[in-house]
Amino acid sequence: MSAIRASVIDGKAVAGGVRERVRSEVAELVSATGMQPGLATVLVGDDPASHIYVRRKREACAEAGIASFHRELDGATAQDELAQLLVRLNGDPKVHGVLLQLPVPEQIDADAMTALIDPAKDVDGLTPVNAGRLMKGQPGLVPCTPAGVIELLRAAGTELRGAEAVVVGRSDLVGRPLAALLVGEDATVTTCHSRTRDLAAVCRRADVLVAAAGRPGLIDGDMVREGATVIDVGTNRTDAGLVGDVDFESVAARARAITPVPGGVGPMTIAMLLRNTLLAARGLAG
Ligand code: NAD
Repeated sequence: MSAIRASVIDGKAVAGGVRERVRSEVAELVSATGMQPGLATVLVGDDPASHIYVRRKREACAEAGIASFHRELDGATAQDELAQLLVRLNGDPKVHGVLLQLPVPEQIDADAMTALIDPAKDVDGLTPVNAGRLMKGQPGLVPCTPAGVIELLRAAGTELRGAEAVVVGRSDLVGRPLAALLVGEDATVTTCHSRTRDLAAVCRRADVLVAAAGRPGLIDGDMVREGATVIDVGTNRTDAGLVGDVDFESVAARARAITPVPGGVGPMTIAMLLRNTLLAARGLAG
């Protein structure tokens, strides 16, 4: 095994820097225009993890000087009622970001509801309009977790231009938008998924390897090229606690840089949500 020991990318510190910049830019916006950015969070049902995520988002807003407006709907809420709420929030001038916390209960079509959000207020970057802009390389609101991965790669000083990047996972939330962002950074990108024939061989090509499959220990040291940067998006609750998709020990022995779980990508997601809310408020201010 190689002597290389990866440097550990400190997601908490990078996220802290983003949050601090957002806080000072929010203060500037308020003093220049009198407009305070506002985020509306919409939660349907009583999924305990979703409640925790939304609470953290609202606390982070408060810390950044962003107003938060929370709407909670019963788990049996009809889709029409949720649709009406989203349309009302689209029209509310105090609200610059609208976030529908996923997952939603089964009687609700998450894609249809997400598509109702005004693209100018779509701080999760999940509407077809913003996804399309990203694919076309046009400016728009970008999903928070993939945007956070790009920030971490920058913070780690990873060269993306011309790099071989491999993304494991093709979800709307992470894998697909991340692949588009990496193409935008001039990387040569391969997207892997559950049907990829020889995952290990493809991963071994990567200068930049991002795991976003939700499978504990999917990526081990044998699948990683020496000197690669490895970003672990995976967040898996196991008996051993919260673990990523990457076997940290064996991969850290080969990689140049690696994110831990927890403390890597996780903290970036909320930081980028705050940044998107600021960008949305600026965009709506004209
Ligand atoms: P998802 O289930 O929607 O998608 C998983 C993807 O991984 C799919 O495209 C699937 O094809 C692929 N995949 C599954 N098993 C595979 C295998 N054995 N080999 C290759 N590909 C495989 O999940 P998601 O929403 O994209 O989330 C992925 C992971 O990232 C989860 O662990 C999730 O909890 C985590 N996540 C973390 C954050 C964060 O803030 N840290 C945010 C979003 C998601």
